[in-house]
Amino acid sequence: EYVILNGEFIERSEAKVDIEDRGYQFGDGVYEVIRIYNGKMFTADEHLERLLDSGKKIDLNIPYTVGELKQLLEKMILKNKMELGIVYMQFTRGASPRNHAYPGADVLPAFTAYTRKAERPVDSMKNGVKALLIEDIRWLRCDIKSLNLLGNIMAKQKAAQSGCYEAIQHRGDTVTEGSSSNIAIVKEGKVYTHPATNLILNGITRRKINEICHENGIAVEESAFTLEGLKHADEVFMSSTSAEITPITEIEGKPVGSGTPGPVTKSLQDLFEKEIEKQCGN
Ligand code: PMP
Repeated sequence: EYVILNGEFIERSEAKVDIEDRGYQFGDGVYEVIRIYNGKMFTADEHLERLLDSGKKIDLNIPYTVGELKQLLEKMILKNKMELGIVYMQFTRGASPRNHAYPGADVLPAFTAYTRKAERPVDSMKNGVKALLIEDIRWLRCDIKSLNLLGNIMAKQKAAQSGCYEAIQHRGDTVTEGSSSNIAIVKEGKVYTHPATNLILNGITRRKINEICHENGIAVEESAFTLEGLKHADEVFMSSTSAEITPITEIEGKPVGSGTPGPVTKSLQDLFEKEIEKQCGN
């Protein structure tokens, strides 16, 4: 099993990072997760562009182009013979004596990446999952895919403890996003999802779904909806790289709509699957 450490391929057991790495001490870094289907990365360009963009937003210069990163990751996927899984990568601001202010330009970012097997969550995608509601206590730059995930992991833990698959976060009345996913509702055939502002991560899956809607005549609006809107939705679904499009069929113990995955969600799942086949099929 090979991993990437600062651009080099090494055995996972050989990969070591400094205890004063700023990712470890401050969560000072950015990351991405890309799905691998059939040994190929899905929407790699979009993910890698978002990675470089997240880096820029925290003044972390990632010394690679999208093309260079893609080549490295493809090589690792081949070496590890990864067919169905994910590739995880992160860049931190590097290792330097602990000090909140950034280190000098001589300190290079630390780059690590690895592959991991991951099945598609077919059962959840088919039958739907339960979710709970939780106040969104995160900072105001949720558009950055930062290593700082305390708000997200605490929300997910609460969901897990309650036997739920996801925690739907809201700022006051406004629904923002899941702990590790974007949330959309369907009302009278139209899809609503929070706009790509500083309050959510602009998910690549979310963007793909919006594209699919536009191309297939499904009405979609990028506007925030409220808890009340969520409560009265016909359908609710979450979207992410690993969960793809997963119907949410129960929120806080109450059924969503009919309590089973709805027709719009199901047709979006079919169309999304076609996209996967188009990009990663044989
Ligand atoms: N929001 C948050 C907070 C996330 O962590 C994620 C990804 N895991 C998403 C949304 C979905 O983004 P993507 O579709 O790019 O995986």
